[in-house]
Amino acid sequence: MKPQDPFEKIAMPGVKNVIVVASGKGGVGKSTVSANLAVALAREGYKTALFDADLYGPSAPIFFGLQDQKPEVIKEGEHEQIIPIEKYGVKIMSIGFFILSKKSLIWRGPAATAGLVQLLSTTQWGETDFLIIDFPPGTGDIQLTTIQKLNLTGAILVTTPQHIALADAQKAADMFHTPLIQVPVLGVVENMSYFTPTQHPDEKYYLFGQGGGEKLAHQLGVPLLAKIPLVADVCELSDSGKTIFSSADHLIGDQFQQLAQQVS
Ligand code: ADP
Repeated sequence: MKPQDPFEKIAMPGVKNVIVVASGKGGVGKSTVSANLAVALAREGYKTALFDADLYGPSAPIFFGLQDQKPEVIKEGEHEQIIPIEKYGVKIMSIGFFILSKKSLIWRGPAATAGLVQLLSTTQWGETDFLIIDFPPGTGDIQLTTIQKLNLTGAILVTTPQHIALADAQKAADMFHTPLIQVPVLGVVENMSYFTPTQHPDEKYYLFGQGGGEKLAHQLGVPLLAKIPLVADVCELSDSGKTIFSSADHLIGDQFQQLAQQVS
């Protein structure tokens, strides 16, 4: 029997660009950036898809208000294909559509990686200009294997301004540059850069310090793509299934639109 090639790429015919959104640790806003970048790219007119690979905390079903949805599975000859669910012009697939949140925690190591690879390769992406992948946080086996198995266009690193988050983000950046793998880091997004009260959009309070995102971008020799403020209603909106973009004039809507223009 032919040994399996660990570097054999997942075939995703029709998908032109694959961008991974990664972070050193959880809770920095990686899923928020992934979801809103995908919606912003769709608004720019690109055929866009989002793959939520954060199997320990899949949030796309919540952010897009799709908790009760189950993707349709169709048979094409011998093979099964899963149809992504479309919302705000984005084709969405999430491990969260298939597993109850508590059960996801027992999925570990090789089983988790195999599950992710299978879901990515059996999803019917069709013609897609940009596939955004929301990675699990950190630098574990799942991330490394997925990087090996995908032809990635680039990676975006999300961090908060604190030093501890920056050290983790640097480690996350390192996993895209190994002797065998070279994935371009497209840039850094600093999230929760400052607090802006919704009623006073001109006021800025730097709760977690300043300059962290710039420092990381400088260290990596990549651009700082965006500085997204901490906004009181983002949490509320995302938890109720309305991403920031459902309110067209939201004060950070423009920032995500500019981010989409920079990466496209
Ligand atoms: P991660 O994917 O890194 O774990 P999430 O995107 O799930 O992080 O964000 C964690 C929590 O913080 C979510 O409840 C989200 O709504 C909230 N959040 C993320 N970015 C912001 C922001 N800029 N302003 C306010 N809340 C935010």
